[in-house]
Amino acid sequence: MKGIIEAFGNSAVDLRDILFPRRCCVCEDPLCTDEKDICTACLEDLPLTYFWDWAQNPAFERLVRHAPVEAAASLFFFREEAGYSHILHSIKYAGRKELGLLMGRMLGERLASSYCFAEIDAVVPVPLHPLRKWSRGYNQAEIIASAVAEAMGKPLRTDLLYRKRRTRTQTKLHGQAKRSNVSGAFALRRLPEPLLSGTGSKPHILLIDDVLTTGSTLAECANTIMPHCKVSAASLAFVG
Ligand SMILES: [Zn+2]
Repeated sequence: MKGIIEAFGNSAVDLRDILFPRRCCVCEDPLCTDEKDICTACLEDLPLTYFWDWAQNPAFERLVRHAPVEAAASLFFFREEAGYSHILHSIKYAGRKELGLLMGRMLGERLASSYCFAEIDAVVPVPLHPLRKWSRGYNQAEIIASAVAEAMGKPLRTDLLYRKRRTRTQTKLHGQAKRSNVSGAFALRRLPEPLLSGTGSKPHILLIDDVLTTGSTLAECANTIMPHCKVSAASLAFVG
């Protein structure tokens, strides 16, 4: 079969789509040759939050109750019934790193043009416990954060924070149980050196996670790093 596909040369991709149709992770319709993971229609209909243009937005209000962050934003609403939650599932469990990079780039481009995020010095993904990263093969927050950092023209720092305690997955927990689950889970690996040379001010870190639900994980990370930095936070999805 591989030989047949190779024999088709430039048409190989089209042939592969006929034989093994790839499907949009949101609507499950077959993808066109030039589409990857998500179809053009679902991408155009992505339920954007526009939180980046709005300082006192729901993501900020939710997080600031638990950690005094400077700013917060999410790219799109979770919308399970419309299939947009499948984007997160595809990035987190199905190894769709390119989808994580695409979504991260979309988030980063919006944050880069937002007055709320104008003073960010470095981008820091929420760390996974090393065992979980090993079993999954990657940290989805790190994939997303790398694209955010590139779009914002800021350094990605994966060396500042680490997860010192393995936690249960947050997905099936609620409220106080989520906060207890991640309490004390993170620690600083190293103190951030002054990222703005000569200003003497605290560096401003942008924390990145895939989803903001109760905000427990991002708030715990923020409180861990906050004595040494100003902290803002952003996620791909916002669970309303
Ligand atoms: Zn679609």
